Amino acid sequence: MFHSLSMPEPDKILALMPIFRRDERPNKIDLGVGVYRDASGITPVFRAVTEAESRILAEQTTKTYVGPAGDQLFCELMTKLVFSDHGPLERISAIQTPGGAGALTVLCGLIAKTAPNATVLVPDPSWVNHLSILEDFGLTAQRWSYLDKATGAADFEAMRRAVLSARAGDVILLHGCCHNPSGADLTREQWRDLGSLLVETGVVPFVDLAYQGFGDGLEDDAFGVRHLAATVPNMLVASSCSKNFGIYRERTGVAFVLGRTQELSKIAQANMVVRARIGYSMPPDHGARIVSTILQDDHLASDWRSELEEMRSTIVGLRQALAQAFRLRSQSERYDFLIGNKGMFSQLGVMPQQVERLRSEFAIYMVEDGRINIAGLHPDKIAHFVDAVTHVIRSS
Ligand code: PMP
Repeated sequence: MFHSLSMPEPDKILALMPIFRRDERPNKIDLGVGVYRDASGITPVFRAVTEAESRILAEQTTKTYVGPAGDQLFCELMTKLVFSDHGPLERISAIQTPGGAGALTVLCGLIAKTAPNATVLVPDPSWVNHLSILEDFGLTAQRWSYLDKATGAADFEAMRRAVLSARAGDVILLHGCCHNPSGADLTREQWRDLGSLLVETGVVPFVDLAYQGFGDGLEDDAFGVRHLAATVPNMLVASSCSKNFGIYRERTGVAFVLGRTQELSKIAQANMVVRARIGYSMPPDHGARIVSTILQDDHLASDWRSELEEMRSTIVGLRQALAQAFRLRSQSERYDFLIGNKGMFSQLGVMPQQVERLRSEFAIYMVEDGRINIAGLHPDKIAHFVDAVTHVIRSS
C-alpha cells in the first residue's frame, strides 16, 4: 500500500506560513495567507464572538450529536444574512457545513450526482481550491479569462462569451464579492446583465460568498447573490463564516441550493445531507452556535456588525494609503486599481521570480501569483513595501 503515491505539490499559500515563521528578519511582512490582521498584526477574536462563547459555555448542557444538516436555527439566520428577508426563501434550502470549503465540497458533490456531465466554468484566476475540489469529483472545469489585462477589472465580455458558449445545465462558478485573488468584482449593472444571460442560456450560477462584509458592506456585498436568487430558477451558493465572524478555525459555513420549486429544493437538500453523511457525518457545532447566538441577539449582532465594519474600513484605508504611496513613488496612476478592488486581496502584477526576490531580499511574503493580502500591511510598513516592489520591478 501507498507505494503508488507520490508527494503532492505543497499548497502554495499554506507552504509560506512555516517559512515566514522561521524568518528572523525584523522587518518581515506577511501578505500571504488570507486572514484579516489588525494594526498589531493579530487576527482578533470579535468581541461578540467572545461574549457568545462565554454564554455558550455557561448555558450549554449537552454536546450530543446535532445531525448531518447541522443546526436548523443557524441555517435560517444565515439564509436571511445572505439572501435578506425578501429573497425567494421558500425555494432556498441550506445545510451547515465545515467552513466555506466544506460547502463547496458538498455542492460539487451534488453537481457530480445530479449533472455529472456538466461543464463548470471557472474564472481564471480563482481560489486554487476551486479547481482541486471540482476535479476531485471528476467534474470538467473550463476556465475563462476573468481579468481585463489592460484595466485589471473583471472582463465582462469574456464572461459573456464563456456563458454563451456553454450548454444549458452547465454551471458557472462566481465569486459573490471580493474576488480571490484579484479583488476585481462585477458592478451591479454587470450582475444584472449576467442574470439575464443566465436565464437566457440556462447556465446555472454557483456562487462562492466567502467575504461578505469585507468589500462594500454586508448588504452591498450580497447584491450579486440576491439579484441572481430573484432572477434565475436554480442556483448553488457556498457561504463562509470564517472571515466575517473571524472564526476561521471553527469551520463554519453553509451550502445553499435554490430550486425551481420548493419540492426540488428540498430534494436537493436531502441529497446534500447524504453527501455530508458520507463525507464527515456532521459539521462541527461550536462555530455555528457562536454565529446563531450573535445573530439572534440585537446587541451582539449590532456590535458584530460594527466591528466588521471597522475591519472593512481599515482595509479601505490601507488600500488608499498604498495606492497613494505607489502614486508618489511611480509618478503614475498605475496602481490606482488598488482603490477600486474589493476585500483583502489584490494582485500586484509581479512575476513569480520578482515574488521570490521580494521574499529573499526584503522579507516580504506574498503568493507566487502576486496576490497580496492588504490587511497584512501595517501603515508604517507601506513605504518600505512600495520601495521594495518598485526596486524589484525596476531591476528585473
Ligand atoms: N472561497 C474562497 C474564495 C476563499 O478564499 C476561501 C478561504 N480562503 C474559502 C472559500 C474557504 O473558506 P473556509 O475557510 O470557510 O473554508
